[in-house]
Amino acid sequence: MKNEKILKVKGLETSFFTHLGEVKAVRNVSFDIYKGEVVGLVGESGSGKSITCMSIMKLLQHPGKIKNGEVIFKGEDLVTKSSKEMRKIQGDEISMIFQDPMTALNPVYTIGNQMVEVIRAHKKISKKEAEQTALKMLEAVGIPDPAKRMKNYPNEFSGGMRQRAIIAMALSCEPELLIADEPTTALDVTIQAQILDLLKDLRTKLDTSIIFITHDLGVIAELCDRVIVMYGGMVMEEASVIDLFSEPKNPYTIGLLKSVPNPDILIKQKLIPIPGSPPDMLNPPKGCAFCKRCEYAMEICLEEVPELYEVTKRHKSRCHLYHPDAPEVVRKQVM
Ligand code: SF4
Repeated sequence: MKNEKILKVKGLETSFFTHLGEVKAVRNVSFDIYKGEVVGLVGESGSGKSITCMSIMKLLQHPGKIKNGEVIFKGEDLVTKSSKEMRKIQGDEISMIFQDPMTALNPVYTIGNQMVEVIRAHKKISKKEAEQTALKMLEAVGIPDPAKRMKNYPNEFSGGMRQRAIIAMALSCEPELLIADEPTTALDVTIQAQILDLLKDLRTKLDTSIIFITHDLGVIAELCDRVIVMYGGMVMEEASVIDLFSEPKNPYTIGLLKSVPNPDILIKQKLIPIPGSPPDMLNPPKGCAFCKRCEYAMEICLEEVPELYEVTKRHKSRCHLYHPDAPEVVRKQVM
């Protein structure tokens, strides 16, 4: 991982303007992504992680709209780009892969045809050269006998192979940033492990930065360098994987960690689900998004949205407990 920042999301706000009112899906989200790093975006469904990435890619469907903020990619604000300008960036410089590979594949064209088409849409090269690139990429993602497999239709591939083909397609234009939205959720555990190994390998070989969206903390531990925890459309905590797992600093993250089994703990572990349900984003709480479920909630939590406080240089937590004036003794109760 290098110190070169390739993406800066600043004060991003995205809402859906429905007939029931404004659903505030992403609220004042800011983070940076550096070259060659893998960042996990974790949270329950509805936490805003996918919408944040759809906003970055400008793939939001009506009635979704970016209300505020900047998405600076290589010095330019993507929020101000036209659809035509974004089409050049999508796939070429930033690629996105989704949970269901079938949605990204056309069932009536062979895998080879689709790959060649994607490559030629972004690179000025001959059909023959594009075929060579496709072949090389399918080989790189571990598709056996790629020359023969290029002639197959998507339904002739297994689920794991289809996801590999999608990753090959996404990486064939050598994007600088890959956004992967739960790409392994629908796969069985063995294939999931293979895809994670593949992504790790590709990051090392191609130095691609990856944003990996998941609700699975095990996947985060396995793959990522850094984690951003989202809840109620906001970033609640941001830290390195080691710091987040060993010293979580936000009551929501602590609850999340207690609610999933830890494979490193051999003794019987009691799992404690977080009581209550996520906030209604049509009417989000006035104060902290987690206040109705937080066992440490104080009066101020109901009234004021906490800032994302810097706990250490590379560890941030959105919680009033980390206000510089909050007494240390209160924080200690949480840990
Ligand atoms: Fe809990 Fe208050 Fe911190 Fe929110 S701000 S996580 S409610 S202690």
